[in-house]
Amino acid sequence: MLSLSKYRIEDGKNFRLADHKPDDTAHLEDKKQIAGIIEENISIMAEEQDKLYAQNDYALLIIIQAMDAAGKDSLIKHVMTGLNPQGTLVHSFKQPSSEELDHDFLWRTHKSLPERGRIGIFNRSYYEDVLVVRVHNLLDRHQIPRKLIDGNFWNNRLDQIRNYEYYLVQNGILPVKFFLHLSKEEQKERFLERIDNPSKNWKFSLSDIQERQYWDDYQKVYEDAIRQTSTPHAPWYIIPADKKWFSRLLVSDIIAQKLQSLQLEYPSMTDEQKVGLEKARKILMDEKNNDK
Ligand code: AMP
Ligand code: MG
Repeated sequence: MLSLSKYRIEDGKNFRLADHKPDDTAHLEDKKQIAGIIEENISIMAEEQDKLYAQNDYALLIIIQAMDAAGKDSLIKHVMTGLNPQGTLVHSFKQPSSEELDHDFLWRTHKSLPERGRIGIFNRSYYEDVLVVRVHNLLDRHQIPRKLIDGNFWNNRLDQIRNYEYYLVQNGILPVKFFLHLSKEEQKERFLERIDNPSKNWKFSLSDIQERQYWDDYQKVYEDAIRQTSTPHAPWYIIPADKKWFSRLLVSDIIAQKLQSLQLEYPSMTDEQKVGLEKARKILMDEKNNDK
């Protein structure tokens, strides 16, 4: 298991993105060993998920935020492969529909929260409402009373998110928040790969290049969001994303450790239930004897 404290932000007061290197790999190199650890983490996740499902009280909410081409989709594909699909739900949040715009900003994600016993994965989330909406000043599209949009608007919204996550934790829905931290140079490499490689063309859109022009604005709003919403109960994890194998290793480790920290157990039977099980055994055994 890796030491995660370097990547976990529990108090955002002094957080600076510049202190985190997108190409950090914790000095790990041995690819075979790394693949082994990822596999081990995935099997821990699967075992713990089984207990989470059986226990049916906690839910895990995995939030993944990142710049384009940081590897959100492939991370979900690789890290979640070992999980039981019955206990897992992935939601991808795109531009809001007019129905969604007609509600408060937490409405659409709140409806998609995982049920108890489940692992929910948000590919983008309500954080988009303090990121893309802030960078492009999209509030005009939202039906918010104009009077409420003042100089404190974004700070208030970040407060609301912090309070909301506290509410979730107090209700047994546990957010685990990942920011895949990609460098601008690596994004360029990955865009070029998407343009050059016909099997990856579909992943590329011209709007990606437009968004890239706002790189610095995005870094600023990400930094502010992480600063204001990192708490001990809902910390952010800053995942170096220039090396995909390292983000997979780190994310699988964090989820495995989070699940283990819950000390999940299969529900134990009451004496009454045990008597019921014995009765059921007897019925089945008698059936067998009668069949002979
Ligand atoms: P992708 O994840 O590449 O499929 O892109 C989804 C797009 O939806 C991204 O450009 C997001 O910025 C955008 N998006 C997601 N949530 C919101 C939101 N609340 N308001 C505006 N755009 C959003
Ligand atoms: Mg995209």
